[in-house]
Amino acid sequence: MPAVPEPYLQEIADGVHAHIQPDGTWCLSNAGVLVGPDAVTLVDTAATERRTRLLREAVASVTHRPVRTVVNTHHHGDHTHGNHLFAGRARLIGHDLCPPAVLEQGTLVKRLWPDVEWGEVPVTPPSITFSERMTLHLGELRVELHHAGPAHTDNDVVVWIPERRTLLAGDIVFNGGTPFVLWGSVSGTLAALDRLRALGARHVLPGHGPVGGPELFDRTERYLRWIQTLARDAADAGLTPLQAAREADLGEFADWTDPERVVGNLHRAFHELPGAAGRAGAEPGAPLDTRAAFLEMIEYNGGRPLTCLA
Ligand SMILES: [Zn+2]
Repeated sequence: MPAVPEPYLQEIADGVHAHIQPDGTWCLSNAGVLVGPDAVTLVDTAATERRTRLLREAVASVTHRPVRTVVNTHHHGDHTHGNHLFAGRARLIGHDLCPPAVLEQGTLVKRLWPDVEWGEVPVTPPSITFSERMTLHLGELRVELHHAGPAHTDNDVVVWIPERRTLLAGDIVFNGGTPFVLWGSVSGTLAALDRLRALGARHVLPGHGPVGGPELFDRTERYLRWIQTLARDAADAGLTPLQAAREADLGEFADWTDPERVVGNLHRAFHELPGAAGRAGAEPGAPLDTRAAFLEMIEYNGGRPLTCLA
């Protein structure tokens, strides 16, 4: 198992910190730490108990104010497993569709990666939800929560801080890693990227990987448009998503981590194609067999299990 660099905290803007977990691959997600006048708002937790405790220590290194609010950008375990460590003293906020997705997912990642030391990660969904928008007031600082899906999932929330021109984008964008829309939507993510770009952010905290700027939207968009074209051509040629992925040249995206996600992304793109397999083209976020797609990602990887360094 390769050595994994320690997580680190980076101040993006006044009172807005990013907790980055290198190297940003499977389950090594980022969190946001918003320090208000009385309390801290945390954006996402971490995948394991140990990593969530490190996150809590990182918060304590910049402020002694308590964490009173946790916002989940979506239901995936690497962003929600640590919720329980804050649940007693903090309100947990997410999109309306987040709690059912957290409950349905349960401890899926523990089954996908049984060798990881997960610790105590009881399933703890958000208890306060919203459909489109919610505003938090950290003293005089306005923090807007926007529903931006279906994109990475059907319950994506981004956190926009207009006065700091800072966007916490969750897994709608990755920096250095391959985007992943198997649980969400290709076309929905493209629509979300347009809306996020229009906010005018200077700083963008991706769900995984280092802090960047609006160029992250452009790279994600280029990849997803490439996926759509690949899916259309492959469907015309009678190929399956796995066959299309195997024949594809990743080109400018070849140096991104977790390239096997191309298979899951193609499954989603095929699902949305008008006329594919006799369908009218599925709605963004419509259910599909994610388990089968995951198994094919492993097949694409030559049968090796996907690597989780959490
Ligand atoms: Zn995710």
